[in-house]
Amino acid sequence: MTAPTIDNDNWFTEVYEQGGTAFSLRVRRKLHAEQSPYQLIEIWETTDFGNLMTIDGFVMLTGRDNFLYHEMMSHPALFTHPDPKRVAIIGGGDCGTLREVLRHPGVEHALQVDIDERVTRLSEQYFPELCESNTDPRAELYFGDGIQWMKDAEPGSVDLVIVDSTDPIGPAEGLFSEAFYRDCHRALGEHGLVVQQSESPLLHYESIIRPMHKAMRDAGFTDSVSLQFPQPVYPSGWWTATLAGKRPVTEFRESDAQAKPFATRYYNAAIHRAALAQPEFFLRSQD
Ligand code: SAM
Repeated sequence: MTAPTIDNDNWFTEVYEQGGTAFSLRVRRKLHAEQSPYQLIEIWETTDFGNLMTIDGFVMLTGRDNFLYHEMMSHPALFTHPDPKRVAIIGGGDCGTLREVLRHPGVEHALQVDIDERVTRLSEQYFPELCESNTDPRAELYFGDGIQWMKDAEPGSVDLVIVDSTDPIGPAEGLFSEAFYRDCHRALGEHGLVVQQSESPLLHYESIIRPMHKAMRDAGFTDSVSLQFPQPVYPSGWWTATLAGKRPVTEFRESDAQAKPFATRYYNAAIHRAALAQPEFFLRSQD
């Protein structure tokens, strides 16, 4: 979706051709580059945003602002489920979502299924703070295709599926399909939820967010909502996580969120409530 044009004269620039926009970060140097069996992974040292990971030229995360994304991909869904114990993260190879999930003492098992082991190994090296929960006895790292893993999952064996994937091109394309959501629905227990990164409200509402709601509901989920949050390093700087469930997803365990037994930098109960508010253009286009 984003043309991976790189201007290497001190500025890394990701051009989003379709939107007529670009985002740049000033870099000091490239720390690492490798072509894995799946994708080109590069690590850069920026002057002001910590380390930067790109995949095929697209920004994945920076040390400075990944907390916004990782916290919003995990805590709203975990505080919506009444008692999440078994969590599957599809993608998420940088391990930041895994770390947030494991902050919840009630979680008994969190499995991360990323197709590319090299993303995790490089994250361990260049983003060690994101990987600090990888040795938690409740964590399991599995390297394989998330689409296949979900097809093979035992019915009712998971409470929450978090789809922390790259953009819907290449190996991640099938993670945005009704067939995949059907497999999630089957693998999820009674109060099961799926949450997926769903790109920019401004740039991708018609092309990604709206079709995602339709596909999730066609797959059997009875309710869905897109939560919004700022994400400075992604196109437009404004991002969403779309939550779908077998039960209503706009109510959450607000008092538990208020009394959460761990520190966050962005997420709290008021942010959760605010992120559920829907812009007029979302509401109008549902007519
Ligand atoms: N926050 C990031 C973003 O939105 O740009 C995503 C970060 S995470 C690094 C994305 C991960 O999805 C990558 O590590 C990639 O290997 C993984 N991935 C892509 N397709 C996949 C698939 N079919 N199964 C499992 N993991 C997949």
